[in-house]
Amino acid sequence: MAEDAWTMPKGELMRGKKGLVMGVANSNSIAWGIASQLAAQGAEMAFTYLGESLERRVRPLAESIGVKTLIPADVTDDASMDAAFAEIEKTFGTIDFVVHSVAFADKNELKGSFVENTTREGFLLAMNISAFSFVDVARRAAKLMPNGGSMITMTYLGSERVIPNYNTMGVAKAALEAATRYIARDLGPKGIRVNAISAGAMRTLSLAGISGGRSMISSGRALSAMKEDTSMEGVAGCALWLASDLGFSTTGEVIHVDAGFHMMGMSADEAEG
Ligand code: NAD
Repeated sequence: MAEDAWTMPKGELMRGKKGLVMGVANSNSIAWGIASQLAAQGAEMAFTYLGESLERRVRPLAESIGVKTLIPADVTDDASMDAAFAEIEKTFGTIDFVVHSVAFADKNELKGSFVENTTREGFLLAMNISAFSFVDVARRAAKLMPNGGSMITMTYLGSERVIPNYNTMGVAKAALEAATRYIARDLGPKGIRVNAISAGAMRTLSLAGISGGRSMISSGRALSAMKEDTSMEGVAGCALWLASDLGFSTTGEVIHVDAGFHMMGMSADEAEG
């Protein structure tokens, strides 16, 4: 998505709310689409990003929407997570929302036969970065949410259905979705809502790592009820609903934003009559 490819409705839905957005790598990142929408509604944010090499891309984006706190954080590294959350606490004191938009699996895990190509090392790495990290982030962030709040993570239909080549990442997303429900149960009494957005395939850096990633977009569009690509507007709009007080009472959900791809059992084009 180009930085100015869509016009975000401006408003006050997030005025007075502070939060953390994890996973902006460039202007195509889903985290960037969500952060832009939250900023347009008055949210104050910190970004974490992976490694100094990404800072060159992330800093100008952050500055363009008034985000001043940029913290390098690797979710596999406890020391870096400790430092990041200490910095967030120092900057904001308390927070109201977290957007966790982080995932990774080695390219070799994302092609061909799942049963033949999945290695112990690759499986555990994908689970660590793409599923366990949300548990870790939720535990840390909850300590900064004495007044309740909203946590959002990103998932994909490959958790529920077999999507060719998605393989290990599909299993990690299934764990992430189950973790979302368990975290929601634990943090519910504290007024913290925890949800996952299951987005349709979108053209990002992560998708480029999946063998045949582009066909995930074209097949998704062809099979979808709306015969459309998933839009960043739709995903960011869902995140705005969940992060704002409009989302009161919704927790432990996996919400599909995929133009109706997830519910189809057969392509209409293939049906007779
Ligand atoms: P992206 O590549 O822009 O974002 C992935 C982010 O994860 C990057 O910012 C990357 O730096 C970060 N990351 C990877 N390893 C990390 C680590 N060890 N520590 C900290 N950060 C790390 O791609 P995206 O498509 O915007 O992905 C964001 C989320 O959306 C992911 O969870 C992805 O699985 C999910 N998702 C993507 C699609 C899609 O089609 N693009 C669809 C549904 C869900």
